Amino acid sequence: MVDPADDRRRRIPRTDALMGLPVFAAAARRLSPTAVKAAITSAQAAARAGDIDPHDVAARAADLLPVAATSLRPVINATGVVVHTNLGRAPLSAAAIEALTVASSYVDVEWDPVTGSRAARGRHTMAALRAAVPAAEAVHVVNNGAGALVLAATALAAGREILCSRGELVEIGDGFRLPDLVVSTGARLREVGTTNRTGIEDYRAAVGPQTGMILKVHPSNFVVRGFTSAVPVAELATLGPPVVADIGSGLLAPDPVLADEPDAATSLRAGAALVIASGDKLLGGPQAGLILGRSDLVERIRRHPLARGVRADKLTLAALEATLAGPRPPVWVALHADLDELRRRVDDLAAAVGTGAVVAHDGVVGGGGAPGQTLPGWALALPSQAAERLRTGEPCVATRLVDGRCLLDLRAVPAELDGAVVAAVKAALG
Ligand SMILES: *Cc1c(COP(=O)(O)O)cnc(C)c1O
Repeated sequence: MVDPADDRRRRIPRTDALMGLPVFAAAARRLSPTAVKAAITSAQAAARAGDIDPHDVAARAADLLPVAATSLRPVINATGVVVHTNLGRAPLSAAAIEALTVASSYVDVEWDPVTGSRAARGRHTMAALRAAVPAAEAVHVVNNGAGALVLAATALAAGREILCSRGELVEIGDGFRLPDLVVSTGARLREVGTTNRTGIEDYRAAVGPQTGMILKVHPSNFVVRGFTSAVPVAELATLGPPVVADIGSGLLAPDPVLADEPDAATSLRAGAALVIASGDKLLGGPQAGLILGRSDLVERIRRHPLARGVRADKLTLAALEATLAGPRPPVWVALHADLDELRRRVDDLAAAVGTGAVVAHDGVVGGGGAPGQTLPGWALALPSQAAERLRTGEPCVATRLVDGRCLLDLRAVPAELDGAVVAAVKAALG
């Protein structure tokens, strides 16, 4: 008499036999051996436990294989929020993506093929940044904006004082606060003025031999309205100590669409000794921290030991250069989208899916830039239940839920993905 459990176990295909099947051979080219084996082992265990028939082990294991070695999923951003922090901020331009691919191999990031010797790391990226902001005598690039601020504060003011207006002691998100960041460098923060009003006299009274720098922070994620005043860079620059302007957004030159947003060129011309900004906000590039300004200060920062701790990697340097030297990146395109064109695309979407209402909808810059500024546009309004289906569908579409409706705003959707949005909406409503 054969024990049925023994018989079942005998019929479970062996690992090496399964590994020989085309589906697992193909998987081994995109996944680690461990990942492929884990799927197989798990299916075999299910057969041993009697949950599946031994005959179905190969199919179950194939189902369990991850589709790719990264589990990050692309998201179509139909929220109308251009720089969406939870969606990884700026999507890169095609030129920047190509640069990433090039930089993923051995590259001459720190080597000169002509002389065969070491060369300044990222020199072409620095040249592109200097060309984009002629008002900067020198530039340096680090891992991110917060890293740039910590590095500048350490190099210029460790053991000394940093003056900053009480109205500019901001939290940048996820519980991280600029005052804490600055104090972590060993500098002392000297708060001046009040939350809503700070004048030049407040700064003047606080400046002394202990002042390492005056920090001017752009409140990039909120607006204070009413009885307010702040001191512009040009006035701060008359006080003596270097003025470091953390503009956050990374706008390099004025943009009429973002009239209230500070930019690097204007801040430098107004007398800022240094400007600090992010690479992946309004500049539309990779995560990076940009430091632009006086060459003596940039050199001090570049040579500080901490600079090595916040060094930009070759992928960042490549993508940043291509963002600066290549065609306008998607963030710029989204911010400057034509109102009529947006309307036409939403009308086309409504017609293609055969339902929903086209409604006026304001997009926003998002992600620490131009707070309070709206970007007029249009959205397709669907029943709220569509939101979850669109999020969990393939491709994944992020929308906005407003007043019990699911809104799709195409401002931050590249026009070439409109067809994919149509298909996703049809699937979600079907
Ligand atoms: C976003 C922001 C930062 C932080 O920059 P990261 O690139 O996110 O590190 C610092 N200061 C201001 C004003 C910002 O808006």
